Formats: sequence, structure tokens, C-alpha cells
Amino acid sequence: MNYLDSHCHINGEEFIDDLDAVLNNMLNNHVTKAMLVCVNLDDYKRSVKIKKDGIDFKIAIGVYPEDTNISEDIFKEYYEKMKEVDAIGEIGLDYHWYPETKEKQKELFISQIKIANQLNKPIIVHSREAMGDCFEILKEHHCRGVLHCYSGSSEMAKELSKMGYYISLGGPLTWKNAKEPIEVVKNVPIDKLLIETDSPYLTPVPNRGKRNEPSNVIYVAKKMAEILNIEEETLLKQINLNYDNLFNR
Ligand SMILES: [Zn+2]
Repeated sequence: MNYLDSHCHINGEEFIDDLDAVLNNMLNNHVTKAMLVCVNLDDYKRSVKIKKDGIDFKIAIGVYPEDTNISEDIFKEYYEKMKEVDAIGEIGLDYHWYPETKEKQKELFISQIKIANQLNKPIIVHSREAMGDCFEILKEHHCRGVLHCYSGSSEMAKELSKMGYYISLGGPLTWKNAKEPIEVVKNVPIDKLLIETDSPYLTPVPNRGKRNEPSNVIYVAKKMAEILNIEEETLLKQINLNYDNLFNR
């Protein structure tokens, strides 16, 4: 039984000191695939050096919604890396932290979707308190991709899955107050579901309060299998297939 983490940031500074231990925890818990998501060029430099026998790492890079004031030169550097990686992301909209740059965020998001289509690569979408606009953009500018750590409604998740998008869930699915994420799992076809940690953030129960790491994805998978009332092994087979279908084409 093999787990995967479709979205993590173990390429970040939080993991510099004990990355080896984190990778060993992954192996010990059979987490054998992981997407390293870069939100800046330093993350990318570290990502290409992350190697471990028995774990298949992929890399994604994209200009984060925060960075709407990125210079043309730096954008070009991102673009060069985009040609090398497995996915474009995380890109999208964040109206929680950066409500003052909504219009610029939309422009940046759309321009990167166009790049992804041109390079024939999937996108990894970040959307926080912006699902309405995000939905409209994904509807109009069609592409392959996943909505990471999905926090919108189950109805919208269903619509997005019909449009071909994958819906990824993380730690919040295991939290005591989880209601909508549980409905999302029930409403999205199993062949459009993914699991993730978003390490170092959003740690699942029972490790809440600690730094998150990819080995914790096992708790997300267990919870998802429980909600769907299927064997964990059946779920994981499908999740692995979904991941490969999205990122290995
Ligand atoms: Zn992330």
C-alpha cells in the first residue's frame, strides 16, 4: 500500500535542518511519491537536490498570488524553470491575504494558465476566499489541473470535477470542525480525488499543533477511505492512478 503527497513544501527553509529525518519518515510510512511545490526560486534550487531512493519526487513552480509586482526579468527566470518542471503552480487567487491586488492576481493567474497550456503541463491551483472568481477563470481558460487543499463548496467541487479538474484535500479533512470537506469527498467522483499535506502547514489530526510533514498524509487517506466507506488500499490504488494521470502525461 503506497501513499503519495500531491502538494508539499519540504523544499522550504523550515526543513533545511532535518530533511533526512523527514524523508526517512516518508519511507517508513510508505509515502513513495511527492510533489515539491516551489513558491520562489530558492525553493526550486533546493528541490532539484532532493533525492531519496524509493521516493519519486516531482517539482512544480509558479508565481504565487502574492507576487503580482514581479519584474519581467524574474518572471523570465520562472518561465525557464517552468519548461523543466512537471507542473505549473502553485498559481491562483488569494483574497484572504492580498485583497487589494485582486485584478492583478487574476491577470497573473490567467497568464500562467496560458503558459501551462502552451507547455502542455498541468496546473496546481491555490484559491483562498476567491472560489467564485477562480471558478470563472478555470471555466473560461480551460486546462488540466488540481485545486490544492480545496476549501470551496461541494457543489462547486462537483462542477469543477465535471470540467476535468482534480480536487485535492489535506489536513483540514481530519479536523473536528470539518463539514464541507467531508461533503466534497462524497460529491466528487473518486477518479478526481487527490490527497496532500501542504507541509509545513495544515497538520492533520492527531498531530495538530506540530509542523506538518508528508508522512502525515496517511491520516488524510485514512479519513477519506472512512468517509467513502471503502478499503484504504482500494482508495490508494485509485489515488495513485489519479496522480499519474494528472502529472505523468
Ligand atoms: Zn502550497
